[in-house]
Amino acid sequence: MAETNLWDERDLTDEQKLFKNSILKWAERNLPLDRVIKMNRDGSPFPADIIKGLADLGVIMGTVPKERGGLGLRWSDQALISEVIGYIDPSIATAAGFMAVGTGWGFTIDRYANEEIREKFIKPAIRGEKYVGIATTEPGGGSDVSNFKCTGRKEGDEWVLNGEKTFISGVQEAKNIGGGYWVNVRTGPKIPEAPHKNMTAFFVPIDSEGLTPAEPYNNAGRNAISTGGFIMEDVRVPEEHMLGEEGKGFYQTMEGFDNARILIGASAVGVTRRILEEAADYIKERHTFGRPLAKYEGIQFEFVERYMEMEASNLMVKKVAVMQDVRYDEEGWSARTGKAKTYSPKEIAKWISMVKYKTPHLAKDTADDAMHWLGAAGYSSEFIFETAWRGVMSYCVGAEGGANIQKIVIGRETLGADYLPYR
Ligand SMILES: Cc1cc2nc3c(=O)[nH]c(=O)nc-3n(C[C@H](O)[C@H](O)[C@H](O)COP(=O)(O)OP(=O)(O)OC[C@H]3O[C@@H](n4cnc5c(N)ncnc54)[C@H](O)[C@@H]3O)c2cc1C
Repeated sequence: MAETNLWDERDLTDEQKLFKNSILKWAERNLPLDRVIKMNRDGSPFPADIIKGLADLGVIMGTVPKERGGLGLRWSDQALISEVIGYIDPSIATAAGFMAVGTGWGFTIDRYANEEIREKFIKPAIRGEKYVGIATTEPGGGSDVSNFKCTGRKEGDEWVLNGEKTFISGVQEAKNIGGGYWVNVRTGPKIPEAPHKNMTAFFVPIDSEGLTPAEPYNNAGRNAISTGGFIMEDVRVPEEHMLGEEGKGFYQTMEGFDNARILIGASAVGVTRRILEEAADYIKERHTFGRPLAKYEGIQFEFVERYMEMEASNLMVKKVAVMQDVRYDEEGWSARTGKAKTYSPKEIAKWISMVKYKTPHLAKDTADDAMHWLGAAGYSSEFIFETAWRGVMSYCVGAEGGANIQKIVIGRETLGADYLPYR
């Protein structure tokens, strides 16, 4: 671990301190930076011992209620856990696979699934024995839901699913250890003025007959977790695999994105914190012209700028986690009707989009700065910076929603829906 400690523990609860310290202790033994770098160099699938280790720590899907196998954690707690995970693995592979996707979406699947899916998939995923994720993106694009082409038709008491999903996290891991996906398909005619309607979510096991996983992609970064896709040819799932209500999949999906994006934001703050700590150690140690690099304003002031932005982002993440806690605390809240007492879902979405936009960009830019501060050493894979840069870039370009899409949400909630660019 880095020697510089930029982490103020005083605003953590006792439980959060316990989580933070036990994860850091576990990581010191099992996931030191040189292993993170090696995992990213060697590529997926994600090492089974790390999945099991995270599960044993109780950090996968901690927000699932206790009576259903989780720890019943608050989003504020799970966000802190994600921050620690981003800190120990700045390539963001662990945060991507098991926090944003596994936990954000696992929690949301659990909310809408029946007992059988909970028993067969969610509880084992919490124990690190299965992988669950989200499959919404299609070859025609991820941002524009009106272009989604996957379909579902009802035959007796089964649904028959067809189409292709692409750029899906964890397909190899799910194939290896078992699991499945929240899959969105169109189950009714496309309504041109409301293309988000008539979408329905199903839970689709990865080993379903008619489902063929694609070869994983060679990505620029976060290589320790696979990104792939699958084709569905007459995949049959029972009626009970429908998640939530028929035709309401879009609203429920937005809820899942909200959950995942909070954890991405928290992870990206953790990445930024680690980059700053590692860089601080180096610039205090390295001398040029008889002085440490940290004394030069050209470096120190850039460092300070990033530190301020990190703490501001941290506060923003804390705020959205609290908003989400309030939302789930309020009885009668519903993704479909948008009913809520304190914060409206659109207001929460605005804050979450600010977090989803700002935090990965900050982590990427901080990694970029750190590479400059270190000179040639910063460009080397001996240090974590280039691995981190390539990893967090996945969240700048698209994973869990494109950057401009976040700006569209923020614009809609600040300037008004009349100024939506696509209408
Ligand atoms: C590493 C990785 C892992 C992923 N894992 C998953 C996963 O597990 N499950 C899953 O379903 N998807 C996953 N995705 C896909 C991700 O959800 C999509 O990348 C995202 O939704 C954007 O879709 P797209 O890449 O098709 O870009 P497009 O929708 O084609 O957009 C391209 C660019 O145009 C911008 N843009 C689009 N529309 C507008 C507009 N109206 N105005 C201005 N700009 C616009 C976007 O911001 C983006 O920058 C993953 C992606 C990556 C990179």
